[in-house]
Amino acid sequence: MSCQVCEFDFEKNFGEIGRGFIHVHHLREISTLRKEYIINPKTDLIPVCPNCHSMLHRKRPAYKISELKQILRISTNSNNVYKKLLPP
Ligand SMILES: [Zn+2]
Ligand SMILES: [Zn+2]
Repeated sequence: MSCQVCEFDFEKNFGEIGRGFIHVHHLREISTLRKEYIINPKTDLIPVCPNCHSMLHRKRPAYKISELKQILRISTNSNNVYKKLLPP
């Protein structure tokens, strides 16, 4: 199970202790749900790492996965540009 935003895989990076570790983001805010609503794990629960999960909730209502991916890509690209400017 890897993060749906940055693709971080806890088992790959932390081995044994990372196995099965992931945060779960609810696409529908629990507080806005009616009691009778039954959560569909396939469409409503998104596995994300704690970093991306925190970032998703920087805005209310939360960012969409696709929005955060876009933001992440922008910052990754600018990091690369920055690294190129640094002396080797
Ligand atoms: Zn992530
Ligand atoms: Zn969440």
